[in-house]
Amino acid sequence: MTRDNGSVVIIGGGVIGVASAWYLARRGWKVTVVDRQRIGGACSHGNCGLVCPSHVLPLTEPGAFGSAVKALLTPGSPFRIKPRPDPALWSWLWQFARRCNQKSMVQAAHAIQALLTSGMREYQYLTETEQVECEWQAKGLLLTYRTERELERYESTNRLLTDHFGEPARRLTAEQTVGLEPALKESVAGSWFYEHDAHLRPDKLLQSLRSQLEHQGTEFVEDCEFSQITGMGSSASGIETSRGSLSADAFLFASGAWTPMLSRHLGCPIPIQPGKGYSITMPHPTVCPAIPIIFPEHRVAVTPMQTGYRLGSIMEFSGYDESITPNRLQLLRSGAKHYLRVPYCEPEVETWYGWRPMTFDSLPIIDRSPRWGNVWIATGHNMLGLSMAPSTGRLVSELLSETTPHLDPAPYRVSRF
Ligand SMILES: Cc1cc2nc3c(=O)[nH]c(=O)nc-3n(C[C@H](O)[C@H](O)[C@H](O)COP(=O)(O)OP(=O)(O)OC[C@H]3O[C@@H](n4cnc5c(N)ncnc54)[C@H](O)[C@@H]3O)c2cc1C
Repeated sequence: MTRDNGSVVIIGGGVIGVASAWYLARRGWKVTVVDRQRIGGACSHGNCGLVCPSHVLPLTEPGAFGSAVKALLTPGSPFRIKPRPDPALWSWLWQFARRCNQKSMVQAAHAIQALLTSGMREYQYLTETEQVECEWQAKGLLLTYRTERELERYESTNRLLTDHFGEPARRLTAEQTVGLEPALKESVAGSWFYEHDAHLRPDKLLQSLRSQLEHQGTEFVEDCEFSQITGMGSSASGIETSRGSLSADAFLFASGAWTPMLSRHLGCPIPIQPGKGYSITMPHPTVCPAIPIIFPEHRVAVTPMQTGYRLGSIMEFSGYDESITPNRLQLLRSGAKHYLRVPYCEPEVETWYGWRPMTFDSLPIIDRSPRWGNVWIATGHNMLGLSMAPSTGRLVSELLSETTPHLDPAPYRVSRF
């Protein structure tokens, strides 16, 4: 059975909401996207733009909790927890710690990989066939190390990714690294190169999807905050917003890091913590890398986009804190300095933060609300929402349309909490 001609209101106009709108509209749904602020203005705006099928492993690696504790005690670490008496945060951390073992890691990794692999295929289709313009470049991704010891340590991860997930990286010596990417200093120890990763400019992606959708009749409503679901029994008939009521046949909550605040409306716990990250966007430095690079020892990512250059990263659990602290941004500049001949330049066009929607098992929630038969949830994409957006959008459209999903939705069910 298919059900493609209904109407749907999507709450949240980030990359997950807009990608879902795109796939639902393609199936014939009449779509309205509402956002409490600007469409594409939150976490989906200034992220690093990496589309990385290589990032299969969840954060819950064996030993990750210990490393996190060590990082907390290290001054100037890019990882920070703002201590506060917040039971939801401590419960989240406890659940995270419980999953830092090989079995949970490999199980989660398979579910992550399904969305990443499909996401990459969908991006290729969107950029090559559907003319979605987003500065798409398929140049791979370098993990570049400063010390031989850390470069060598990645060998076991590479073996795991090769043997269990068919995702091998090519190991490069210092000379090969600089030969491939001359913007790097000769003092680097070497790299692991994922040749099949890609990158794009996130704000351009959102603009392009939005303008295609508007052209075909999708409505976008900004400054429109959801407040309540209305309906009878288990069937929702409408939502109340700061700009009035909206009715539809179905509703999708793609409200990112804000979704826990809506859990009483959805009828289920949404154990998401905002994982704050930062970025700085500027013009190309005089010696600009051609390939995106992550420096795992300093946890900084560098993305050379066609119309800009971005340094990004950092993970802070500081609640819904809206401040941008200069010393956090300085960590990005000083981290990149160790590796790049010209790590940054003036003027800084934008300094930015975003709240990643972090679940403790590193998996998103893509499921129906247990309270309402026609209310759906797509959130919790952690550090990979951009990479997983088209596969999530496609899966959401299949679930709402009651057609066979292109990948198994079971790992993303909300009942796992
Ligand atoms: C520094 C940094 C770098 C990153 N780099 C990458 C990367 O390279 N690759 C990658 O794949 N991912 C990356 N990510 C992660 C990625 O950005 C996120 O996973 C993704 O943007 C989440 O998208 P979203 O649509 O769920 O959330 P958002 O983009 O935050 O959108 C949610 C929207 O819901 C709206 N909303 C919330 N509540 C309501 C309400 N009550 N009513 C109406 N609207 C509401 C919000 O205003 C917001 O616009 C990065 C993140 C950060 C912070």
